[in-house]
Amino acid sequence: MAYEAVIGLECHIQLNTRSKMFCDCPAAFGAEANTNVCPVCLGLPGALPRANRAAIDSALRLGIDRGEITQYDRPLCEGGALPVGSGGRQRSFELIRIHVEEDTGKSFHPERFGDRPVSRVDFNRAGVPLLELVTQPVFRETAECSAFLTGLRRLVRWLAISDGDMEKGHMRCDANVSIRPAGTTQLGTKTELKNLNSIRGVEKGLAAEIARQKRALEAGETIEQATLLYDADHDKLAVMRSKEYAHDYRYFPEPDLPLLRVSAVWIAQARESLPELPWEAERRLETEFALSGEVASIVGTDREYVRLMEDLARAGVQPRTAANWVANVVIAHINRLGIDVGGFRERVPLAPFATLLTRIESGQVTATAAKSLLEEVLDQGADPFTRFTSGGQAVSGDDVLLPLVRAVIAENQGPVEQYRNGKTATLGFLVGQVMKKSGSQAVAQTVRELLVRELSEPAAT
Ligand SMILES: [Zn+2]
Repeated sequence: MAYEAVIGLECHIQLNTRSKMFCDCPAAFGAEANTNVCPVCLGLPGALPRANRAAIDSALRLGIDRGEITQYDRPLCEGGALPVGSGGRQRSFELIRIHVEEDTGKSFHPERFGDRPVSRVDFNRAGVPLLELVTQPVFRETAECSAFLTGLRRLVRWLAISDGDMEKGHMRCDANVSIRPAGTTQLGTKTELKNLNSIRGVEKGLAAEIARQKRALEAGETIEQATLLYDADHDKLAVMRSKEYAHDYRYFPEPDLPLLRVSAVWIAQARESLPELPWEAERRLETEFALSGEVASIVGTDREYVRLMEDLARAGVQPRTAANWVANVVIAHINRLGIDVGGFRERVPLAPFATLLTRIESGQVTATAAKSLLEEVLDQGADPFTRFTSGGQAVSGDDVLLPLVRAVIAENQGPVEQYRNGKTATLGFLVGQVMKKSGSQAVAQTVRELLVRELSEPAAT
């Protein structure tokens, strides 16, 4: 039987606030155990928590765009949807809610104290603000989940509320999944996968669990509601707890927490502080600069890419050239070198970089030569000011190029014959051969013109 999966995601996003949710303790990582604590985040009786305005602000920034803000009540934001690119098209995935919560302490066990086994607890993380974002069970394919998480990561980085790195624990994800015969509407029994710690892990863990549920149903078994842990290294699932404990979290209202009132003014301020959002930037790049959807979506993966592209355009580079270079060249170098856009801009200052790109446009340097110059600057520490403004001078003079053109014609009689017999597509190949001989410094248009002229003459005897 064909089955379809029904998947919902619950994401926890660690906010990059300086202090914890309800006290002034630092939210930073890496301190010695139990040094960033106080009576509030230890939950001692009599402590008076105060809500962190920056954390609520971050939730509002994400929530304003994605849903309705609910006042005087939990959760902070309800409904809404996150648009993301999936399978080459834009899709919106509906949300149930976004709310703010606190991270917990971390336990280490068992350890030894003398000859006794002990557990130790570090409360440094306790009280660090997290955003919880829960989707409707709208996903049918595991690839949709990765597309959603990639889009969510882009958004939280874009809004500068979190680094959103799953591998580093800035973003964590649980997934619930059930399967049902394709074409039916009744939901099957769902299981929950906990603490998936990479986008790839979410996809693989879900695939493993969907396969497990299929095998169980096909063997005539029923699916038990359960919480599972996925071990990405060994592609293995383990049951963490079964149904009877699943809801035994003992939730109760915290009597010491102040009632949070989010005023209309506060919401309006958060709305005003929102930057242009990633999908808005993409659309604008497409319409304002006539970029292809593909290039716009690559440049639109990061606000800093958009900024670099627009700074280059302001410095006189054709916007399409700037966008293509950011999308096809700059990002590859950034990933290869493991740096960010700021690091790239330090090594490759804007003014000489813009000069280099305008020299390509005016035919003073070929794109290939420009790429080599960029590598010289990035990898060999060459000076961008001198190399970009005068290096890699393109060759366009007949005196230099004509001997190369004639040599290529002499060495490639087969393609030359085909061209003369009307198969003009071989011209591109011959242009490429001349470019190679010139060390990629020849101006392609001049080479093309010279080839056409030479080839139209009667075959040399
Ligand atoms: Zn504290």
